[in-house]
Amino acid sequence: MAERPLPMSDDELAALYRDLHAHPELSFCEHRTAAIAAERLAAWGYDVTTGVGGTGVVAVLDNGPGPTALLRADMDALPVQEQTGLDYASVVRANDAAGNDVPVMHACGHDVHVTCLLGAAAHLAADRGRYAGKLMLVFQPAEELGSGAQAMVDDGLYERFGRPDVVLGQHVGPLPAGMIGMHQGLSYSASDSMTVTLHGRGGHGSRPEATVDPIVLAAATVLRLQTIVSRETSSTESAVVTIGSLHAGAKENVIPDEAVLRLNVRTFNPRVRQRTLAAIERIVRAESQASGAPKPPDIDYTGSFPSLVNDEAGVARVWGGVHAAPRRRAGGRQRTGHRQRGCGGARHRGRRAVRVLGPGRQRPRAVRRRRDAQGRLGGRAGPAEQPLAAVRAGRVTDAVDRRRGAGDGRARLAARSVSSLAALDIPRLVAWTPSRQ
Ligand SMILES: [Zn+2]
Repeated sequence: MAERPLPMSDDELAALYRDLHAHPELSFCEHRTAAIAAERLAAWGYDVTTGVGGTGVVAVLDNGPGPTALLRADMDALPVQEQTGLDYASVVRANDAAGNDVPVMHACGHDVHVTCLLGAAAHLAADRGRYAGKLMLVFQPAEELGSGAQAMVDDGLYERFGRPDVVLGQHVGPLPAGMIGMHQGLSYSASDSMTVTLHGRGGHGSRPEATVDPIVLAAATVLRLQTIVSRETSSTESAVVTIGSLHAGAKENVIPDEAVLRLNVRTFNPRVRQRTLAAIERIVRAESQASGAPKPPDIDYTGSFPSLVNDEAGVARVWGGVHAAPRRRAGGRQRTGHRQRGCGGARHRGRRAVRVLGPGRQRPRAVRRRRDAQGRLGGRAGPAEQPLAAVRAGRVTDAVDRRRGAGDGRARLAARSVSSLAALDIPRLVAWTPSRQ
C-alpha cells in the first residue's frame, strides 16, 4: 500500500535539525529557536503563546471534546565547544549568565527534541480529523538549569492553558539509530548536588605545625566519602557519590585557608537518598573535627531533582499505540543500498524501520549486537525488539546517532531533562530504561 505523504518530509526535518544544531542558544536565551517553533506552529493552525516562563512557547490545538495531552520539548543548549567536525557544527559563542564569553553547542540533543516535536505537531495538525481532544505542545526553556519547567508552571502554564491528562516527554539517548525505548515506573535516579567548604588555617608551607591544612583534610574527606557506597550501602541498593570538583590553594609553599569540594549524589530509593546525604554530612563534619578545623564545614545544597517515575498505565497505553500504528515498511529494516556511519564505529542502514525497546525491564545492553562480514558491530536485534515503522527514524535519528561521540555528558544531562518533568507534578511518560544518568 502506498504511503501517505507526511506533512514534513525527511529532508525538511533534517534541514530543520541542522539549522537548529548550527544555531544553539543558552538557557533562557532560546529566542531564535522559540521564534522558529512559534512561526511554524501558528502556520499549522495552533493557537500559539510565546514568552511563557521566559522564552517558553505553548501551542494549543483544541480539537473538540476529549482528553488533553501535553507534548514537551526542551530547547536550550550548553556552554560546550563543538568538536564533531560536522559540516553543520556550531561555531556559536555567547555570554553566559555571569557574562563570560563561552562556546555554545547542542550537546544534549535538545535540537533533536525541537525537531521531533515540530514534526509531530505538523503531523497532528494534518491528522486532526482522526482524533478528538486538546493538544498542548510545550517548548520549554532552560532545562539545563533545571528551572525552565518550573518557570513555565510559575507563569501559569496550567491555569492559562489547562491541566493535561497526560504529559509525554522524550530524550535522545545512547541507543542505535532507529530505536526508541520506554519504561514503566522508576526510570531515572534522583540527583543531589552540594558544595562543601572545608575550613582550615593557612600558613607558610615550611611550618605546617602552625596550620590546619585543608588540603590534607579534603584528601581524607574525599577518600572517606567513597566508603558510603562501598561500606554503608547494601549490595541490593544503589547509590553514587561523585566529587567532581576539588579546589584549594594557589601556590606550592602556601597552605591555604580552605578547600572546596563539589559533590553529586545519585540514588533511586528515597530512603537510600536520605541515608546517603546524612552520611555525607556526618563524614564531612567528622573529618573536619578530626583535623582540628577552626570551624565546622559549610554544606550548601546547590541542586536537587527527584527520581522520575513513569506512569505505568500511561506507558502501557503508548506502547500499545506504537504497536498498533501502521508500519511504514513490512518486514522491518529497509535496505536502501547506502550506509550512514555512526559515531563509535557503529554503522546503521539509512531509513530503516523503527525498533522499540521496553516498556518492561529490558535494558538496551541486553540486546544482541550483530557483526557484519568485516566484524564491525552493526544493527542490533534481540527478543526485546519489535520491528515497527510508526515513528519515522530516518535521517534525523541517524544524525543523533552520529553525534553520540560528542560526549557522555549529553547522556548524563538527559536525566536532568527528564527530571524537569517531575516538576510538572502530573503523570509522566518518558522513553528509556532505569538509569542513574
Ligand atoms: Zn537534555
